[in-house]
Amino acid sequence: MSSSLTVDEQFREQLEVASRLGALGADARDLTGLFRALHYEIARVMDGTVFLFALYDEETQTVEVVRQIDRGIEHEGGSFPLGKGFTSEVIRTGAPRLVRRWSAEGPPIRLLYGTEAGELVAPQSGAVVPVLSGGRVLGVLSVQSYRPDAYDDADVLSLGAIAAQAGIAIKRLRAMDQLAQEHERRAQQLEAVLASMNDALLIVDARGAIVRLNRAARELLRLDSASLVLGQPLERQRLEQWPSGAREITAALVPAIDAIRSGTNIEEEVEIELREGERRVLSMGASVLRSAKGVAQGGVIVFHDITMKRDLEQLREDIFEMAWHDMQTPITVIRAYGELLLRRLSSGDREKKLSKSAAEAIVRHADRLAELLTTLFDVHCLEAGLLSISRWPTDLAALAREVTEGLRPTARRQIEVLADGSAVGEWDERRLRQVLMNLLSNAIKYSPEDSAIAVSIGADERSATVCVRDQGIGLDDGELAQLFRRGYRAESARRVTGRGLGLYFSHGIVAAHGGRMWAESAGHGQGSTFYFALPLREERSVDGAVDARA
Ligand code: ADP
Repeated sequence: MSSSLTVDEQFREQLEVASRLGALGADARDLTGLFRALHYEIARVMDGTVFLFALYDEETQTVEVVRQIDRGIEHEGGSFPLGKGFTSEVIRTGAPRLVRRWSAEGPPIRLLYGTEAGELVAPQSGAVVPVLSGGRVLGVLSVQSYRPDAYDDADVLSLGAIAAQAGIAIKRLRAMDQLAQEHERRAQQLEAVLASMNDALLIVDARGAIVRLNRAARELLRLDSASLVLGQPLERQRLEQWPSGAREITAALVPAIDAIRSGTNIEEEVEIELREGERRVLSMGASVLRSAKGVAQGGVIVFHDITMKRDLEQLREDIFEMAWHDMQTPITVIRAYGELLLRRLSSGDREKKLSKSAAEAIVRHADRLAELLTTLFDVHCLEAGLLSISRWPTDLAALAREVTEGLRPTARRQIEVLADGSAVGEWDERRLRQVLMNLLSNAIKYSPEDSAIAVSIGADERSATVCVRDQGIGLDDGELAQLFRRGYRAESARRVTGRGLGLYFSHGIVAAHGGRMWAESAGHGQGSTFYFALPLREERSVDGAVDARA
């Protein structure tokens, strides 16, 4: 074909072909696109009546035909195992094959299509070249014609040059594919991380519209469906559109979104009082996301619930204050009696009775100090979730009798214990003694001298219940509802000293055993009854024991 051209023209044509080839398949987004680009180029330089583009899968030894075209009609690809045809031969040898006259040279080309009016129409000549990459055969390009002698060595060379470009394009497409898979994998990982995060996370665009939010954010914002808010710029005047339970938190979101819109990061703590009266302390961070050129493109807002942390800090402060307040007296007393003893010893005063009473006062107040420290430590452990329960077979009835006996001599109240037999379970005896001590000493503290206090212990097959009934100051409904809160003391109880920690701690101990504590009273001056129920077997559901009772 090119033999009639001048040397100059031939050179120019070659240059043109070379530059066209360089760009071959560069725009192809997938293998079909590449197939079309290859066919277009092939048809420009040789007979491209039939063209087949196939890839070879080494692992399964299968030829995967991407697509083929026959007289202008494109056909779907298919696959076949490596066989005896020319295509397979080229794949095996990695060398091109020119078939000038098919009928004379070998097996008919493998056609996946091609009957015409019921007859098989077979091409008469063809050329097959391997698509190589680093010595490995990636696939083949195969052209055929219904004319014999349609191709010569120059065509095989041209087809080889096109195949070289096809090899580059295939590698690029595979890399793109890998990249896409990698992106997909990363996106899935990120999605999983976001979903499992406890912190609420929202992504907003440059307009301040929420474009994404995770499960925790949906929960925090009380959104059943994210579609309610996605894509809407969040502004103060639009807050009314939000679900009513979420408005307090959404209101806190507005300044964060405003900050992101203006390109500033913020980090602050917001205390939010939810409508149902629940207090939440949230730390909020808003970070602006910028493009590579530094243009603000929206940002990420993260809410971290620090209510527990804040409560613990508050507790620590309370404990410190309580310790400071309650330790003053015993320390002053211990010091005063210590000084007194010292003076006596140095002056040679041998009056035993006075020294004895001074030493007794020191011991008594040191005990008070120790007890105070234990209570504070226990409360701290309870709040921090560190309260440990050492289970051991314990008889609740025997324990109640023992605690009562210990208190009786100084009680100045008529205490009786009613128990039918024993109530034995796997419980922490030391902790339950603290609970009984607290209930009994409260019954004594908050009732008049000589009144009656009844301690009864009963058990069914599921749980054991202790009941402490007094004839004291009683409690109204409002007080009953708050009794077990840390530091709570009813107005009517304030003339007696106390810290409001005993019931809170006792309640915690009972809960740690899987049980429940509650109180009943007919009102002020009507006496009170305190109960606690413990499951007899550890694996028994807490609710079962409690619900049966409640
Ligand atoms: P404290 O007795 O040191 O104040 P508690 O936690 O033991 O702390 O009790 C909390 C509050 O519950 C008491 O201040 C009192 O108001 C109320 N209370 C507890 N026991 C009784 C009782 N038996 N009768 C009436 N009120 C009680």
